[in-house]
Parts: sequence; C-alpha cells; structure tokens
Amino acid sequence: MWVKKTQLEIEEEKKIKKSKRFKNALIDSSVIAFVFFASQIILLKIIGQGGKYSNNVEEPLAWTEITKQIPALLGFSFAVFAVIFLYEFFSGKRIWKKETSSTYICDRCKKTNYKSTMTKCECGGTILNANEFKWIPDSNS
Ligand SMILES: [Zn+2]
Repeated sequence: MWVKKTQLEIEEEKKIKKSKRFKNALIDSSVIAFVFFASQIILLKIIGQGGKYSNNVEEPLAWTEITKQIPALLGFSFAVFAVIFLYEFFSGKRIWKKETSSTYICDRCKKTNYKSTMTKCECGGTILNANEFKWIPDSNS
C-alpha cells in the first residue's frame, strides 16, 4: 500500500539528492557537450557549412578544413558544457529527467488514477504527487 513519507524521509532524500548534484551536473553537461561537438563535426563532414561560404552549395568539408574549425567548436562545446552544468548545479534539476512523478495519489483512499490538475479526491482526501509516497508491501493480505 502507499504510505506518505515522513518529513524526515523527505529531508533525507533531499540530502542524498544534494550530494549527487555536482556529479550529476558534471555527467549531464559533459555528455551533452560531447554530443554537440561530435554532431557538429559530423555535420561539417556531411553537409559542410551550408551556403555561407560556398555559394549556397552544400559541400562537405575536407578533414583538414574541419581540423581548422576544431578550436571554435571546442569553445562552443565548452559554452554548452558551462551553461548546462551551472543550470543543473544551481537549480538541482536534470534537464532530461522529470522531477515529479506522473502518478498522483489520494492521501486518504489511496486511489492512483488522477491527473495533476486535480487536487481534491471524491472521498474528500487530497491528491498528492507519488513522490511524496512510498510503497510498502501489504503484510496481512
Ligand atoms: Zn480519495
């Protein structure tokens, strides 16, 4: 059955989340910056720089040309890294992970089929996000 977490448990979870914040922000921003960097290289190799330098004809760049672009790309990648790292570190959020569960539960009758827009259950209970509950197996059934 669903049991509401105590304040202590919620605090404990927050502490654990906080301790992982630096590491998570570092991992997420590194991965995204790397994907950004790699995709730019691939794009340059496949379609070049577009019309800007080549009379609207998309032509792939030679590897020697791409090598010349690497310092600029590294700069952009670092900017991407910094923005995502700072965002995640200071907000405590992860950009590809939803913070709230999509499940909502009534704190009285424990029904679970609710949408986030509902706040009151028909039984008179309050509908809360599943993050505020924990699942405990029934012992007497
Ligand atoms: Zn209810």
